[in-house]
Amino acid sequence: MTAGPAIVRDSGERALLPPFTDEHEQLRETIARWVRTEIAPHVDEWEAARQFPRELYTRAAELGFLGLKYPVELGGQGGDYVHDAVWAEELAAAGASGGVGAGLGAHTGIATPPVFRFGTADQRERFLRPAIAGRKIAALGITEPGAGSDVASIRTEARRVEGGYVVNGAKTFITNGVRADFLVCAVKTTPDGGHQGISFLILEREMPGYEVARKLEKMGWHSSDTAELSFTDVEVPEENLLGDENRGFYLIMENFAWERLLMALGAVGAMRRLLEVAISYAGERQAFGRSIGSLQAIRHKIAEIGVQAEVGRALTYHALRRFVAGEETIADVTKAKLYTQRACVEVADEVVHILGGYGYMREYGVERALRDARLGPIGGGTDEVMKEILGKQLGL
Ligand SMILES: Cc1cc2nc3c(=O)[nH]c(=O)nc-3n(C[C@H](O)[C@H](O)[C@H](O)COP(=O)(O)OP(=O)(O)OC[C@H]3O[C@@H](n4cnc5c(N)ncnc54)[C@H](O)[C@@H]3O)c2cc1C
Repeated sequence: MTAGPAIVRDSGERALLPPFTDEHEQLRETIARWVRTEIAPHVDEWEAARQFPRELYTRAAELGFLGLKYPVELGGQGGDYVHDAVWAEELAAAGASGGVGAGLGAHTGIATPPVFRFGTADQRERFLRPAIAGRKIAALGITEPGAGSDVASIRTEARRVEGGYVVNGAKTFITNGVRADFLVCAVKTTPDGGHQGISFLILEREMPGYEVARKLEKMGWHSSDTAELSFTDVEVPEENLLGDENRGFYLIMENFAWERLLMALGAVGAMRRLLEVAISYAGERQAFGRSIGSLQAIRHKIAEIGVQAEVGRALTYHALRRFVAGEETIADVTKAKLYTQRACVEVADEVVHILGGYGYMREYGVERALRDARLGPIGGGTDEVMKEILGKQLGL
């Protein structure tokens, strides 16, 4: 295996790359072992079924993976964001597939953090505790059929009534949407308010009028479920308002930072895995009486892949270090997300090519890696949105 975050010095000694400690490295090994033994052997079957089993959440919870960064009092492991970073990277590096990574990651990485950050004690008890225990599955609902990049133009409306809200509207492309028990959902509480009119409500699947309208078919991430949801006069009680009314845009912005960093970490893990496959295949495959790894063209391609993987990792860990230090990270996170997602698509495409016909077949998992990677430059804010942010950061 090529090196993970611990680097190997010329002397042969292993050194830890900050912000990772020995404890994080042990967690890395535990997650990798779990993925190799309990997930990777089943991925093809789950991809074909278009869903991994619900029990995977309870199993992940038993092992403590759903509550790595949450306090022990809520059933978590009392760790930090770096533990969650290891989780995201290692799921990808050990071969859990984009779909399993997305299904588990949407739960731990984007849907439950707002409940922890902005939730009341009651909301943490009702939603976060069972989510950490794997008893309730969480999803985040921002995107709508008519509003993706342009978040401010969402139209799902929450009309204030006595004791709460009545919600009407629709969400689409929602990861875990088919079987989520609760949805952390962006709504308009002030229809003409633009950014300032967005709030978050926690919608529960048994609420009358809450419907899974459609399970969507996708190019990749096959083992994750993705849904279109519709809401017709859904009555949501006051106590399900998450954070302050009309301040939901701040929640979105804060959540995006971690989501984008997690996506970068996933790509770093995926590129590490792809590089390993390419090196090992090139060493074994014979053509014209020699290993293809001894051909200059293949060596050069693999060398370039190594550089892309390393640049992505450096940018991502830099952003992660700053994020956990509580520093302003918008530019660093944006650069890491932008670079790694595109690089991962390119790397996956090159590795498919290096493996020739075998790359196009299922058995090495690289065709799946290419399909899975293609979502990266789109989800969590497209490349163009990332470039807009960076342009503004440069004063343009
Ligand atoms: C598999 C999958 C899972 C997802 N999971 C979730 C989820 O769990 N929860 C959730 O809320 N959302 C989810 N999404 C939605 C995802 O975040 C959006 O797809 C993404 O934000 C882009 O929005 P859009 O698809 O509406 O594209 P659009 O915003 O319609 O963009 C279309 C094209 O126009 C370009 N464009 C848009 N605006 C500009 C601009 N100002 N300048 C230049 N170009 C621009 C875009 O870059 C893109 O190329 C998921 C999507 C997918 C595909």
